[in-house]
Amino acid sequence: MADLTPMMKQYLEIKEANPDCLLFFRLGDFYEMFNDDAKIASQELDLTLTSRNHGKYKKSAEEAIPMCGVPYHACDAYIARLIAKGYKVAICEQMENPATAKGLVKRDILRVVTPGTVMDAASLDERHSNYICALYLDNPISDGKLSRHVKAGRKLAENAVMGKEDAGLYPEFFPDTSAPVPVPTPETDSDSDADTAPKTGVLAPVPASAGAAFCDLSTGEVHVAAFHGADRVQHLTNELGRYSPVEAILSAGASSCLPLVMTLRDRYNCHMENSFQRFDPAAAKALIQRQFGENGAAVLTGKDAAVLALGALLSYLYETQKTDLSHINRISYDEQSRFMELDLNARRHLELTRTYRERERRGSLLWVLDRTRTPMGARLLRGWLERPLLRVTDIRRRNEAVSALVSDNIAREELISALSGLGDMERLTGRIVYGTAGAREIVQLRAAMEKVPEIRRCLSVFKNRLLQEVMDAMDPLEDLSTRIAATLDDEPPVSVREGGMIRGGYHPEVDRLRHILTGGKDIIAEMEARERETTGIRSLKIRYNKVFGYYIEVSNTFKDQVPEHYVRKQTIVNGERFITSELKELEESILTASERVSALEYELFEELRKELVSGVARITQTAQAIAGADALASLAAVAVANRYCCPEVDESSVIEIHDGRHPVVEQMLKDALFVPNDTFMGETEQRVDIITGPNMAGKSTYMRQVALIVLMAQIGSFIPASSARIGIVDRIFTRVGASDDLSAGQSTFMVEMTEVAEILRCATSHSLLILDEIGRGTSTYDGMSIARAVLEHCAKKIKAKTLFATHYHELTELEHTLPGTANYTIAVKAKGEDIVFLRKIIPGGADRSYGIEVAKLAGLPAQVLSRARVILQELEDEAGKPRPAPDTAANGDIQVSMASMAEQSVIDALRRCQPDSLTPMEAMTLLYEWKKSLT
Ligand code: ATP
Repeated sequence: MADLTPMMKQYLEIKEANPDCLLFFRLGDFYEMFNDDAKIASQELDLTLTSRNHGKYKKSAEEAIPMCGVPYHACDAYIARLIAKGYKVAICEQMENPATAKGLVKRDILRVVTPGTVMDAASLDERHSNYICALYLDNPISDGKLSRHVKAGRKLAENAVMGKEDAGLYPEFFPDTSAPVPVPTPETDSDSDADTAPKTGVLAPVPASAGAAFCDLSTGEVHVAAFHGADRVQHLTNELGRYSPVEAILSAGASSCLPLVMTLRDRYNCHMENSFQRFDPAAAKALIQRQFGENGAAVLTGKDAAVLALGALLSYLYETQKTDLSHINRISYDEQSRFMELDLNARRHLELTRTYRERERRGSLLWVLDRTRTPMGARLLRGWLERPLLRVTDIRRRNEAVSALVSDNIAREELISALSGLGDMERLTGRIVYGTAGAREIVQLRAAMEKVPEIRRCLSVFKNRLLQEVMDAMDPLEDLSTRIAATLDDEPPVSVREGGMIRGGYHPEVDRLRHILTGGKDIIAEMEARERETTGIRSLKIRYNKVFGYYIEVSNTFKDQVPEHYVRKQTIVNGERFITSELKELEESILTASERVSALEYELFEELRKELVSGVARITQTAQAIAGADALASLAAVAVANRYCCPEVDESSVIEIHDGRHPVVEQMLKDALFVPNDTFMGETEQRVDIITGPNMAGKSTYMRQVALIVLMAQIGSFIPASSARIGIVDRIFTRVGASDDLSAGQSTFMVEMTEVAEILRCATSHSLLILDEIGRGTSTYDGMSIARAVLEHCAKKIKAKTLFATHYHELTELEHTLPGTANYTIAVKAKGEDIVFLRKIIPGGADRSYGIEVAKLAGLPAQVLSRARVILQELEDEAGKPRPAPDTAANGDIQVSMASMAEQSVIDALRRCQPDSLTPMEAMTLLYEWKKSLT
């Protein structure tokens, strides 16, 4: 340290306090990075890595210091790239003016930018919220020790923080989440397996509970939730699906829970911070009261796990943001009984916000429903889709508002056009509070505010209660928009530091300085004329040079007429040069006018900004009301455009849909019309539908269509049908398609069975189950047995509404023996070797799967197809009759058929083989292979 320059010492001290961040160290017009930070940044940002071993940056005389830098005015783009790659960036600013500072300029961390705290508009998707969360979980390990699983979870979380690959994990681990034990403190987070009794004051675990707090810092929105009981980890994991957080602060228990950590890492690519001390009950309460006041904090009374999570989140935000967070001023507590819980599989399979394979918005339900005109409306609608409602009254409220908008085309279109081009009022409030909003953005805000009265007028036409409430919640904000209009020019520059943003006439000093700036020459000319007149010196001139600045030049002829207050500065051949105090003052004004007007304009801008900060709660409330109007108008516009109907939603346990359509598939079909289908699922009759039918007939489409229609009804939307009655469901579960999860060490079949197990464990009689081809990933008999047993369990035990698609036609027999089940098939017409899909669901079972016909459509070579037909014929001939019902088919036909297939393949191979061309060794090998395939 002794050899270091003072600035380098300052750098190292600040770096030491922020070891996990890349430090952007302000030096003049650049942010510089040194040492390892410089190496990382140069690589990640393609910057040139330089080094200095002399001069002011030196570390020691011998050692060169790697460094690289980015211009300060372009830093946002560089920071965004680093954040996207999983780094945290600490911005270290000069805290005093380097021109006037004595000695080393004071520097300090202005804020730490992390994935969940990005505020730069360019780095955020305006139609997407950006959530940071804190997750509290009492320690889920029951043995009271810091087991290897705990360490695996921690390690994974730590590695995720550092962006490393995980090594030596334990994918088989699924914790027993039922028994709380002492929580390991940071001090015990070592390699030793020592007992982990909590240190008092550090943590006080809330037994058998989990809490989550989510915040979108850019808008100030906060959601919290708490869960109790044995399934708390599952609930917590499902809650993540609603918000898709980009950053998570983990308690000791949460960081020890491998499934949770893996979900965060693999599903959300989430940046994780192990930050155990932040989950402190006393500190949490104090922080929540400080941020939200007594009344705000009261929402969380008795919800201790939620308090711990929110407290930890606030503590992290205060520490990293170091700024006013007054736009975070409301807590929304997510009652479990209000919103439908959807697990990750259901979200993905139903393709709510993006498609399953391509992960794109086009082709998702959101893509169909989102016709919002404002970014905040788009975010709200997405939120509705992520959280369908459970209470009939809540659903009807939205539904009635959509109905009102649907039934008045002119008023709706007027409202939609009033909402257009409004910009992101909600996120602007965050930037105003942060001090990062520029004058241009504030002018945009003014334009948005000026549209509020028109939006209110459009809403006033509707008699609907929710629309009236939305209108009432909109503050016209006239005082604020008038204030902005009076202060800021209509087209201010981007930078707030270079002047030109304050409206002329707003402040006399700004006007005076601008006059000096623009009229400097005139003022000099005026003074010159005046001096000539008062002194009578006709040849008097006012001139300027770099050495003296402005001066008065008098030729020798008039030397004697020079007044006394003229101060001589220089004698030249033909005369003398003078200055006066008035001229010096004028010179000072002219030369510094630009600097002074910029500083004054900035001061006035800041004054305005602070005034707006005090109005942030009103602006946010208005922005949210606008979002509500926009989301409802979007649902109505889609309903009209796509000919949707208003569902009747009740608690009847009946799902009855007439002419239902798949909302997305019908939009994607280009050359064909979508064929509508009816659905009836009663409380007792037809509760379980067994759907058989040819490949490609439309089974999956039909099942998903039912699920999506129910979900749309429960977000308050109209639905693609001619009429419908929807008895609300508590959850929708899906088991669809084949996929493996190699990162978790699970094969395709294992994934399928794990998902089925989870569904059977969690579903209730009020749930809707979509089970598409259970038991496909194993041998025919194993698969069919499992499929049947699952079906029986759903029908008899859970009594859930179930749509069960299968190619095991034998299962259709269950219609006669299993109460509540009904067979359905999708009609097709066979024409010789071809097949025509009718897409109509009809009662009854399918006779066969028409796999070969569909394979023909897919373009399988003719040779392969004809061979397949021969084999099929042989199999059917050997079976002699349709395959037996599953309960009678203990062995026999199918196995015999498999054996005959093997024999056939050996015969084929024998026919193909040419003994003369084989070596004795090859012949022996073939013989062994054939023998093996027949045994
Ligand atoms: P498999 O058994 O092979 O999985 P499937 O029976 O589940 O097939 P789907 O994937 O649902 O068949 O449907 C295949 C295609 O048929 C869809 O992609 C869609 O283009 C079309 N389709 C399905 N249902 C309809 C319908 N009601 N009207 C028009 N086209 C439809």
